[in-house]
Amino acid sequence: MEEKAQLMDLAKCSACRGCQVACKQWNQLAGVVTKNTGTYENPPAFTPQTYLRVQFREVVIDGKVKWLFMKDQCMHCTKAPCVEMCPVASRTKDEFGFTEIDRNKCIGCGICVAVCPYQVPTLDSVPKTQSCWFCLDRVVAGMKPACAKACPAGAIRYGSREDMLKLGHEAVAKSGGKVTLYGEKEMGGLHMMYLLPEKPEYYGLSSEGRLNAEKLSKLEVYAMLEKKLQGSPVRTEVLTMAALKYFGQVKI
Ligand code: SF4
Ligand code: SF4
Ligand code: SF4
Repeated sequence: MEEKAQLMDLAKCSACRGCQVACKQWNQLAGVVTKNTGTYENPPAFTPQTYLRVQFREVVIDGKVKWLFMKDQCMHCTKAPCVEMCPVASRTKDEFGFTEIDRNKCIGCGICVAVCPYQVPTLDSVPKTQSCWFCLDRVVAGMKPACAKACPAGAIRYGSREDMLKLGHEAVAKSGGKVTLYGEKEMGGLHMMYLLPEKPEYYGLSSEGRLNAEKLSKLEVYAMLEKKLQGSPVRTEVLTMAALKYFGQVKI
């Protein structure tokens, strides 16, 4: 099966939030009451009911104020820390390159939340992990993901990752190098890629995820898991699985 991807041209995004609404509708995610915090960005963060949100960023570039918009959701990293660190293999990669979640396996430890370089997953009240699943049900039926189909500005392209990379390279060449293709190599290659009219840092992005994302070592993640599983009936079993996954051996 060929890898699929989205390529979003941020210069075309009008921040209408059609993609945000389409994601809610298709995935039957409820509306959430929020407070006005002096920005059009709403909601301000991912929640178990919000897999996709449109960021509004006000930045100063060369002395001029600019308003930058960005559709934000799971990037479906090839080298995904959430997959690499989930102790019970609840998060896995599928044949399209997407990151999928088996909620039956999830124990709600929150390790994926702590290690995601794009600060995407959230835990619901069960607790179980939640995030964009690339509308796998639509993809296997030959349809576009709901967000890509909904965009009235034609800012979101969807297809084979190879084709999206080709389109991305062509756009960069046409711009004379002014536009940046983000996602070709970051985290082993993303399946949500962007054409950025401004430098990645203006969107809060670096080559290793969000600029302010914490980077935890395997030892730190293991220690976090030990603490979270205090008193849990599955503590020994899960710590054994984690030790084998992280270090190739059981820690004594
Ligand atoms: S963006 Fe975060 S949640 Fe999505 S695949 Fe990458 S590490 Fe996992
Ligand atoms: S909450 Fe824990 S068990 Fe569930 S997917 Fe995240 S890392 Fe895996
Ligand atoms: S791919 Fe589907 S689940 Fe992911 S953000 Fe788009 S509409 Fe939401």
